[in-house]
Amino acid sequence: MPDKTFLESVGRYFDAAAPHTGLPDGLLKQIKVCNSVYQIYFPVKIDGEVKVIEAYRAQHSHHRSPTKGGIRYSNHVNQEEVVALATLMSYKCAIVDVPFGGAKGGVRINPWEYTEADLEKITRRYTTELIRRKFIGPAIDVPAPDYGTGPREMAWIYDTYRSFHPDDINAAGCVTGKPVSQNGVRGRSEATGRGVFYGIREACNQQELMNKLGLTLGIEGKTMVVQGLGNVGSHTATISQDEGGVKIIGVSEVEGAIYNPEGLDIHDVIRHRGEHGSILSYPGAQSFGKDERRAVMEFECDILVPAALENQIDADNAHAVKAKIVAEAANGPVTADGSAILAERGIIVLPDIYLNAGGVTVSYFEWLKNLSHMRFGRLQKRFDERNYQRIVNQIEETTGKSISERDRQMIVHGADEIDLVRSGLEETMITGFEGIYAIYRDQEGVNDLRTAAFALAISKISNDYISLGIWP
Ligand code: GLU
Repeated sequence: MPDKTFLESVGRYFDAAAPHTGLPDGLLKQIKVCNSVYQIYFPVKIDGEVKVIEAYRAQHSHHRSPTKGGIRYSNHVNQEEVVALATLMSYKCAIVDVPFGGAKGGVRINPWEYTEADLEKITRRYTTELIRRKFIGPAIDVPAPDYGTGPREMAWIYDTYRSFHPDDINAAGCVTGKPVSQNGVRGRSEATGRGVFYGIREACNQQELMNKLGLTLGIEGKTMVVQGLGNVGSHTATISQDEGGVKIIGVSEVEGAIYNPEGLDIHDVIRHRGEHGSILSYPGAQSFGKDERRAVMEFECDILVPAALENQIDADNAHAVKAKIVAEAANGPVTADGSAILAERGIIVLPDIYLNAGGVTVSYFEWLKNLSHMRFGRLQKRFDERNYQRIVNQIEETTGKSISERDRQMIVHGADEIDLVRSGLEETMITGFEGIYAIYRDQEGVNDLRTAAFALAISKISNDYISLGIWP
């Protein structure tokens, strides 16, 4: 079964990296296992009929508090999937130095089959169940959006939590990914996609790596194919095109896939889908219907970005992948068998536990904002602007030259919240890449970036166990 393969794949990735850490077996086992899983069944009345809803929250690792990870609404949710996703969250947080343990929640429903009112009922009831068992709270476990959920659901969760904890001054920190008007942070919605872009850009800036792949240095001009135009895929594609000069040549969605080696304007494709309800029939592109949409994995391109669900590249289609780089924007899009085949064929995989960590990174910023009860930039923005003005004035006076109004505006601009969030995210993704790349480059026997990423994550978590005195 594919879902079982997902958890098995994560286990195999861990086992491949573990020997490179030099840690004792007992400690490795503690870092591998999922600490707790809460399974819930609760009734919800929908259209006069009672429906029993199956739901989960898994907390993979309590080496740091709170635990952190999204909540997924999908028909495919099951315990193994939630555990696999929670496990990836622990390693993800460790790699990007976000001080949380990993968690994940899931509600087994197809959210597109329910009305907004029903979804609100389900979300509030699920939250109540988590509160009842102390599986949520700013210091305990902090959910966020994932597949099938977004800011709207996070606002319901926050509101439900707040009504049960009216005296908790930090209640807003019980969930992240909230709308900006409801104590969210600017830049959270785009964060995963923006982080994916920064991660790909860093990889493309490595001369040795690009030589190996026969590609030119730098992201500019590279061709990209994106599977899935949800939150992660659409932001990855638009930011890569707008800020990286990447040529998007193929995309896929539930209805099918389109391909045009001459390039697609991704903004126009998204607008077309909004207008026509489908990407198919996009002018100038070759179309592949619903049944052939897996062809997207085989499109010729430099960078393939699976940005939908797990198990998309496996032993069946890994041989047919034509990309040079597979950038895992989704969680677990390549199975362990698929990964081995890609590695054998010299295809570089940028692993999910690093590449899509931008979401949880900005969630961390949101949580910090909630605990500090203040917008980022509020204290220093005007102070900085006044200083920059003085510096520019002084330079103009001493040189006798003046700069254009546009340049002046750019130089004197003090950082807003969005500037600081993007800057913090960029710094995080660059530092994260450096950590992984150093292991990949320098450590004997580590032949792929995923093994390097797992080794880095395991070592960082082990340091916590050791310094906490939990491990002798
Ligand atoms: N669901 C996202 C992920 O898989 C975000 C988690 C979070 O922000 O806590 O990384």
